[in-house]
Amino acid sequence: MFRSTTASTTRASLAGQDVTDPLADFRGQFDLPEGILYLDGNSLGARPKAALAAAGRVLGPEWGHDLIKSWNTAGWFELPGRLGDKIAELIGAGKDTVVATDTTSANLFKVLAVALKLRPERRVIVSERENFPTDLYIAQGLSRFLGAGHELRVVDNPAALPAALRDDTAVLMLTHVNYRTGAMHDLAGLTRLAHECGALAVWDLAHSVGALPVGVVEAGADFAVGCTYKYLNGGPGAPAFLYAAPSHHNSIEQPLSGWWGHAAPFEFSPEYRPAKGIGRFLCGTQPILSMAVAECGIDLMLEAGIDRVRAKSIALTEAFISVVEERCAGLGLTLASPREPSLRGSQVSFHHDQAYAVMQALIARGVIGDYREPGLLRFGFTPLYTRYADAWDAAESLREVLATRVWDRPEFHQRNAVT
Ligand SMILES: *Cc1c(COP(=O)(O)O)cnc(C)c1O
Repeated sequence: MFRSTTASTTRASLAGQDVTDPLADFRGQFDLPEGILYLDGNSLGARPKAALAAAGRVLGPEWGHDLIKSWNTAGWFELPGRLGDKIAELIGAGKDTVVATDTTSANLFKVLAVALKLRPERRVIVSERENFPTDLYIAQGLSRFLGAGHELRVVDNPAALPAALRDDTAVLMLTHVNYRTGAMHDLAGLTRLAHECGALAVWDLAHSVGALPVGVVEAGADFAVGCTYKYLNGGPGAPAFLYAAPSHHNSIEQPLSGWWGHAAPFEFSPEYRPAKGIGRFLCGTQPILSMAVAECGIDLMLEAGIDRVRAKSIALTEAFISVVEERCAGLGLTLASPREPSLRGSQVSFHHDQAYAVMQALIARGVIGDYREPGLLRFGFTPLYTRYADAWDAAESLREVLATRVWDRPEFHQRNAVT
């Protein structure tokens, strides 16, 4: 069993790591409320200080003064490609192969539709039951819409994936890092298996981008999608992104053939003619305000460097697991994330029978994680603004909540709409 930290982890030793942390200064680039320990950046990243100024710039001089001229003078029209190129650096992709646009769900629809068209003699999308629901819903909806034998085939266990890839399989669609447990798939290995059976590989990088290096080109992935509002700190509802391997750019048209994907949108021609290259994956007018804000978080991630972020992420999650297992022993927690750090993303999940109430009690104490069915306490470790000492403090709060059973108060059992 892999253990890089020992039972002797102390708050002082972790605070010492904060002193020598090469990423320590990035915390000052974020606005974080006093008295809050934020471990939910895997769901909604914290706000970069620069985001307020970026929003002010778009709302003030650009929209407020220059009005429609800003499409040209402020670079609004180029934002999907400019952000796309920056995200490409984080996922190991080349220039002009990524666009920032729409939502992860909508982008998944586009790339799945293209992938199915590229394998017309095959009808099956293979995935796993544990995938994030929207991914499964989009695949189900598209299969039903196309009819004629199209279907989504899900496996209960990742070990069953190779056997599920057959000569009827058009697409393997997976999320790289599992949203519940943080368990990570072998992106390159599974892409190779998909290709060996003649299928294409579509990856959802929602919990990977900004958390760890992803080599989509090196792995030979066909398409990838993901969010910017999680580890990239892009802001609520910030635009998603879409990667397509260059070989798939000009072969097939994607189905949402809106004017932003047209070869010459301002010719206003009545005939759709797709743009050459990644631009054809755009559909309509983009949320410029959200895009301008999202760029601040992406820029910070590029400045920090994804390898340094990954190194700190592993150290933080190792420290948290070690302190929780030591200090909360016998209090009903079971680690639900892979123990081996190379097999998990940047989050740690623990199972507890009363996880929902435990999380509400933690949040009431200022330790913000979240709850996921069934029975999971989820803690995201975002290295740009999380300190090593935070891992100790969060574990200690968890111990207090469990040891005192404060979670058993009625108010902590009340379910909110968003968990
Ligand atoms: C967060 C998340 C999404 C979100 O999709 P939206 O369309 O942005 O709501 C999709 N897939 C995965 C795996 C996610 O974790």
